[in-house]
Amino acid sequence: MEDTLRIAILSLHTCPLNRPGSRYTGGMNIYIQNLAQELARRGHSVDIYTCSHPDDDLCNLVVGSDNLRLIHIESPDYSLISEETLGNHIAMLSDSIDSFCLEQNKHYDLIHSHYWLSGIVGSKLKQKWCVPHITMFHTLGAVKNSLGLGILEPEYRILNEQVIIKNADLIVASTQKEKRELVNRYSADPARIEVVPCGINAALFHPVDKEVARQMCGLAPKKTALFVGRLDPLKALGNLLEAISPLKSRDDFQLVVVGGNDHGVDFKAIMDAACDYEVSHSVNFIGSVPHERMHLYYNAADFCVIPSYYESFGLVALESLACGTPVIATDVGEIRDIAGICQSCRIIKGNTPSELSMNITAMLDRIGNKKNGYSKLVDHYGWGHVADRILQQYKAVIDRNAEYTQQRCSYKS
Ligand code: UDP
Repeated sequence: MEDTLRIAILSLHTCPLNRPGSRYTGGMNIYIQNLAQELARRGHSVDIYTCSHPDDDLCNLVVGSDNLRLIHIESPDYSLISEETLGNHIAMLSDSIDSFCLEQNKHYDLIHSHYWLSGIVGSKLKQKWCVPHITMFHTLGAVKNSLGLGILEPEYRILNEQVIIKNADLIVASTQKEKRELVNRYSADPARIEVVPCGINAALFHPVDKEVARQMCGLAPKKTALFVGRLDPLKALGNLLEAISPLKSRDDFQLVVVGGNDHGVDFKAIMDAACDYEVSHSVNFIGSVPHERMHLYYNAADFCVIPSYYESFGLVALESLACGTPVIATDVGEIRDIAGICQSCRIIKGNTPSELSMNITAMLDRIGNKKNGYSKLVDHYGWGHVADRILQQYKAVIDRNAEYTQQRCSYKS
């Protein structure tokens, strides 16, 4: 095996360059960007295949440097995907990627797909190219449906997830919880699942002076709770609005909400909830913020609240703590492990508004000076470390597959 690998990353559901915090763009985009950069920095050749998006000048262009490219390929309108059309869409996506590779005489050592749609295309390309396929789901349809919140994920998503799980050479889960869900709900083979957490960009997320950060964000000098995330019912922002209702007469308190600038049905539901709980005047809706400015909001806040019913990982907790800002969170994703490393991460027992409210009130009484960032947290979750662990998995999978690849394929590089 060569020391440097040729890696095809599939991010077909959403372009990694889209701004996080809108409906379909969040932690996965940040993950792909950071992982790809770390791999390229180590000298590996990385091509990220993503969907074309008409609102962007970059559409259909290859952007990037020699060993890190973002390739926009022609893609279907995802809102038109249904059980009937899915097969054609998948064929179109995998054919477009394959044709691009043929034209460029480009070969890969492995495919790393993200989210179920890319996972199906990854399964197809694995057959065609005879290279190993590593997949990450980021969220699982069956787990989302088990919560019974928001729009149900279609049965064909879950069936396709099962097919991907059966055929992938390795599944990377970002938490032990996700591994258990894969085994219990999808009968995945535990021997083909490795847990590698998501990473934190310590160069971006570190403590800066609270007052300076507040000024840079244009926030009032009040006691400040922060919520960061897409306006998805699973993020339970409605519960948080109810939880701050007892504080509505305090003019020294504000809740800052970062994320969610698409004025769709979820946005309306949140605005209605803010009116119902009479907290509109205490809430500052910022909309989505470029990722490079997120550290300012974490630093401007006195604490960050994660009231979610479900998180696949919970990057927001890591980012906030790395900035020295305490976190109150429900027991979701990686939060328990993070709290094990960092005492400023407090897990609340349930996720009822009254439980949240109690914890927020207690936190308001304890607001103190900003803590230092948590070096232990950064040691464990720093991107350098996480990328090394992913690379180890790539190499192990390639070694395991070498024999199979030689026997079964006429594919030559
Ligand atoms: N984020 C951002 N701008 C926003 C809102 C969110 O850059 O306006 C980023 C945030 O910093 C974090 C990610 O989006 O890196 C959200 O990740 P998380 O794992 O918390 O949630 P997910 O979107 O994966 O459900």
